[in-house]
Amino acid sequence: MFTCMTSSPEETVHLAELVGQKIREGTVLCLEGDLGAGKTLFVQSLAHTLGVEGEVTSPTFNLMNVYEGICRIYHFDLYRLETEEELEDIGFYEYTEEPEGIVVIEWPDKFPESLPEDYVKISIERTGETENSRRFMFSSAGEKNQEFIKELETFVHTSH
Ligand code: ADP
Ligand code: MG
Repeated sequence: MFTCMTSSPEETVHLAELVGQKIREGTVLCLEGDLGAGKTLFVQSLAHTLGVEGEVTSPTFNLMNVYEGICRIYHFDLYRLETEEELEDIGFYEYTEEPEGIVVIEWPDKFPESLPEDYVKISIERTGETENSRRFMFSSAGEKNQEFIKELETFVHTSH
């Protein structure tokens, strides 16, 4: 686990760019945080770093967006989903169980039981210091991404 603070949207963009330089294909990335925390901004910057040229918007209504970059990026937003059946209907498990490309999930905490064994978790909190200050907490659920988290910690802390 490691944390990183940002004090502006621009700093969050920079942090997401660093993560985008290191993230590996086959990763599921879960982004927790209240409305307005910065989840979608983070995903936008991550996707652009991975070569996505078109618009990246929160899939709140269509539930999943797919972007083409140097690999495919599947962007879920579970905010409006009510039941696990709906998750099945949108093919959530097929995308997350053996992920190809990169799978990004906003509001994963709505369905804690439905998440895969291995994923990278980023929890974003407002620190309260200023309106724009945020704390990003990076951790790994499962074994697979533990080494990645360590590598990312070093990279982020030396490039920040
Ligand atoms: P979420 O997807 O978590 O609901 P968004 O990314 O859509 O949130 O929106 C975050 C909002 O907060 C944006 O308007 C952004 O400009 C603003 N903001 C202010 N400070 C920060 C920060 N440090 N990091 C990310 N976003 C910030
Ligand atoms: Mg969002």
